[in-house]
This record gives sequence, C-alpha cells and structure tokens, in this order.
Amino acid sequence: MSEDKWKNELTPEQYQILRQKGTEAAFSGQYYQTKDKGKYSCAACGADLFSSDTKFDSETGWPSFDQAIPKAIKLIPDNSHGVQRTEVVCAKCGSHLGHVFNDGPTQTGQRYCINSICLNLKKEKMNNKIKSNNILLIIVSLIMIVGLSYYFSTIYNSSHLDIIEINEYEGQDLSSINDFRENSIKGPQYINKNSYQLEIKGLVENPESFTYDEIINNFPSQKKVVKLNCVEGWSVTILWEGIVLRDLFDQVKPTDQVKTIIFRAVDGYSTSFPLSYFDDHDILMAYKMNDTVLPPERGFPFQLVAESKWGYKWIKWITEIEFSADENLQGYWEQRGYSDSGNLDQSFLD
Ligand SMILES: [Zn+2]
Repeated sequence: MSEDKWKNELTPEQYQILRQKGTEAAFSGQYYQTKDKGKYSCAACGADLFSSDTKFDSETGWPSFDQAIPKAIKLIPDNSHGVQRTEVVCAKCGSHLGHVFNDGPTQTGQRYCINSICLNLKKEKMNNKIKSNNILLIIVSLIMIVGLSYYFSTIYNSSHLDIIEINEYEGQDLSSINDFRENSIKGPQYINKNSYQLEIKGLVENPESFTYDEIINNFPSQKKVVKLNCVEGWSVTILWEGIVLRDLFDQVKPTDQVKTIIFRAVDGYSTSFPLSYFDDHDILMAYKMNDTVLPPERGFPFQLVAESKWGYKWIKWITEIEFSADENLQGYWEQRGYSDSGNLDQSFLD
C-alpha cells in the first residue's frame, strides 16, 4: 500500500506513529493499563500481534508484552537519536509498533514496548460452553452450601430446632419442642432411620426385631397430651403420637414368668417397669411430638411416654426392650439412688 493510501486510511496520529515511527506520550494511550483477555492486532492491517496472556504492567505508560505471536513481527536495528535500540514492526504491513528491550521481568527477558495507538484489542468472548459450565458450577455450589448449612444446623444447633410444631391441641396449650432442657447422659444421639432396629428379647414366645417402618406401619397409633415432669424442676406439656406398647407386647407374647420390662437406649441409658404398668395404661412409644417427627435431640426414633412417672423414666433413643423375671432389675438412675417406681406422686429419691 502506498503512503498516500495509508494517509487516507489512518488518522493523522496513527499515521505519524505507525508510518513515520513516532512515539505516543507515555500514559496517554488506551491500553497501558488494560487487563482484558484477547488478541492485540495491528491498527494498520489488522494482523494479530500480541496475546493478552503475554502482557504485563511495566509501569512505563506503554502496553508491554514479554513475547509476540510467532512470525507476527519483525525486528529492525534502530540507531536513531544516537541510541542503539531494536525497532518492532508489523511483519505483514511493515508499520512501526514500538521497540523491544532486554530488560523484561519475566522468563523471556524481553520487554516489547508498544504504542497503544498501533494496536486494537479484540476481546475474547467467553464461549457458551464455558458460560453454561460456569452457571452449572454455581448452581451445584449453591445447592451444596444450602445442604451443608442445613446439615450442620441440624447437628449443632440443638439449642433451637427449626421445626414447625403446633402449640395447641383440642383447647390445651402445648409447650414447645425447644422448651426441653438437654440432660441425657451422653448428649443427643443421631440414629440412622434406615439401619435402625428395635430388639425385643428375653422371656417372650416370639423374640422380634423391628425396623422403624415396621413399627410405624404395623401398629395403630394414638395421640394424647401428656406432661413430662423433670426431677430438675421443669416440665413440658406435649402432644405425643406413638404406638401403644401393649399392642407390641401382645405380638411378642411375654411368658408367665415376666415381672419386669427394661428399656435400653443407644447411649447406654436404661430404665425398668413392672409388666403391670403397661396393662393398666395405654403407654405410648412416641415417634411424633406436637405433630412433628421426633428430632434427634428429643429421642428419634422413639421416646417412651411414661405418663405419671418422673422424667428419667421417659427413655429416649430406645433400641432394646427386654422381658425379665427379675423383679429387682434396675435402670441407669435407679441404680444410682432414684426410685424404681418413679411415680410422680412420690419422691423420686428412694
Ligand atoms: Zn500491520
């Protein structure tokens, strides 16, 4: 292309630098601070010259690169102004771009010092596949964050359970699931519903082992409001829902020798009752309280609703029921001086 044609194609400023080897003022061009991704091409002919990956901040006020795209430029010794330098020109159209120096800070040791006005940045468009992958990644991350925070809140936030519960039943005011004080011997237990088994053993004709679902589905349920009184001096009134234990016992058929039934829990806790207690009352083994499934902190999967008995007879996390002929079989607190009967109308201390 003739110089006249270049003059028509380029602005006067571009022509002066690209075609007459001028230099723009430092810190005046549009690209010296640019960090956008893409390819810098020749402002005269459009050939790709430098990749943004090779750009670095030289603090000179000119865009600087540590290498050029292979074969995109030519180097020409330049002794103008009484200084020995190396001029950089576009390999395709021969336009002046700037100079290269051997004082680069990166591995190449090169510093291509280029006039902004000689360059056009063609910004990289994020392709759609990367975009949709990123969106998917964000969605998966959000789901994981929500899931993990829920998981940790159920494990650690036992002081306040985020549970939807009723607060009134057939005209009776109910306490909240959060009104209980944690006083179990080893803290809350987390039982896996899928591997849970309730073992029924001892002096029975049909020893049995039930899964959670077998108990829920095979025995009729009953609801009633019962107040739990703790020996510590607090009480809660709760709507309990569970199976009547007498129904369960009828299925396993205790023998005539049975005097005592002892319940054991996953944490090693235990408590015992005379067989007659379950004949005289509809004693529930509860799986719901205030219309919500027992949370782990309240004894999931099952808590005994030991009505007319002190709170320490209300065993949580029940995993085993044993039928025994031993009238003196004692539970955890009973062995430590609490009364065997645990009747509310008597002192809990023997
Ligand atoms: Zn060019």
